[in-house]
Amino acid sequence: MSIMVLDILNLPSLTGAEERNNMRNRINYAEPYKIKMVEAIELKPAEYREKAIAEAGFNLFNLKAEDVYIDLLTDSGTGAMSNRQWASVFLGDESYAGAASYFKVKDAIKDIFGYNYLVLSHQGRAAENILMGSLVKPGQRVLNNMHFDTTEGHVLMNEALPVNLLRDEGFDTEFDAPFKGNMDLEKLEAELKVGAENGTVPFVMMTVTCNSNGGQPVSMKNIREAAEITHKYGLKFFFDAARYAENCYFIQQREKGYEDKSIKEIATEMFSYGDGATMSAKKDAIVNIGGFVAIKNDEDLYNMCTQRQIQYEGFRTYGGLAGRDMEAIAAGLYEGLNDDYLEDRIGQVKYLGDKLNEIGIPLQIPFGGHGVFINAKKLLPDIEQKYFPAQALTIELYKAGGIRGVELGTCAFGHTDSATGEEYYPELELVRLAIPRRVYTDRHMDVIVNTFADIVKNKSRIHKLKLVYAPTIMRHFTARFEEIV
Ligand SMILES: *Cc1c(COP(=O)(O)O)cnc(C)c1O
Repeated sequence: MSIMVLDILNLPSLTGAEERNNMRNRINYAEPYKIKMVEAIELKPAEYREKAIAEAGFNLFNLKAEDVYIDLLTDSGTGAMSNRQWASVFLGDESYAGAASYFKVKDAIKDIFGYNYLVLSHQGRAAENILMGSLVKPGQRVLNNMHFDTTEGHVLMNEALPVNLLRDEGFDTEFDAPFKGNMDLEKLEAELKVGAENGTVPFVMMTVTCNSNGGQPVSMKNIREAAEITHKYGLKFFFDAARYAENCYFIQQREKGYEDKSIKEIATEMFSYGDGATMSAKKDAIVNIGGFVAIKNDEDLYNMCTQRQIQYEGFRTYGGLAGRDMEAIAAGLYEGLNDDYLEDRIGQVKYLGDKLNEIGIPLQIPFGGHGVFINAKKLLPDIEQKYFPAQALTIELYKAGGIRGVELGTCAFGHTDSATGEEYYPELELVRLAIPRRVYTDRHMDVIVNTFADIVKNKSRIHKLKLVYAPTIMRHFTARFEEIV
């Protein structure tokens, strides 16, 4: 006994770099926080889950959250605020005009982004409404490495065309590259040669990390060059910054010359290449609600944006948020830049991905910032696309383990051509498990892996699905299915 204890005490002392490396590989590691407040979750009995999912029309969006054990539907607004954020909530200045809490967010944006103007909104899509509504004209082409779905929606609502300029490798789920969110600079230049001349391109946007292809990062080099090209043609360069801190972490880990820089230094350099940003604070500011447009120095644009802000969100110094929400954002913006936090967050995604990989689950690679994406076509080759294999997998995950993921396949992206009645099937059939920030521990991740191990052994119990109700757009939110048994 005493020898064992001695062995433990005689662990070789590690250098800082070795400790970091162990942390990254989750060796001798635990979450960098302790838990002061808990929220009970319950794995409801299997028979109950069978019934609940049937009543929900085999669509996980229709489940009651209390019937879910581990909820990986989204990482948007589902993070856990820290004791400091909760303490700051009590400092919220609820004044209509000139609230102190507003100035705290404004100062944080100036400090991290280097931008002078702040236009607050209730969440990211509202910031998109403000920016797009101010700048996008009918018939224009809006350029982005890849539009997030609400961003795309706002471009379309302004009767313009969303154009995705992601490099081809970004669409390949099996190609391993460090920066699969990068924009194709040749395509960008070709678009701008025509569009900047005749005024059909209002601006260029870069989404960091690129949510729609799995939270893949964009390199600093690509950001700098894309911004240079955009500016050469006299246009503005904006960021969709919802996940900017995660992007900066990947730059620190993967791009030469940034390994010794702090996340904040990287963020400030990154934003220095742009003219402004929209942000959903529900992501990397680790709050439950909030968003904003930040503008570097164009006062006219700021005035244009605040007109729409006042109409849709609220006065300049609150923009649809309570003073307490603004306090939490100001604190959260800094917490989101913390090395230990990012190491843990992105490390947890990798932890889950590595373990699923070990038991042979086909995944998108490399793992992105906020979740893992399972290739359902490969995992369930016997279920043809017309029978919704990814949706079928989400249902089995719930039945087998009370886990809620989201389908990104034929239900979300497929549709029936209204003219020909023909079915359109998307290329990919994925299930996303998005990990909320600071909410679940690695032991929850282990339970997910065990559930998959069980599913792999019992694939025959997974049923094909038949669509029985679907609205014409965004059908995954409200669609209903029946199982073909
Ligand atoms: C979540 C998200 C948005 C939209 O933000 P909401 O707060 O959900 O309205 C926009 N862009 C990206 C990249 C996102 O991840």
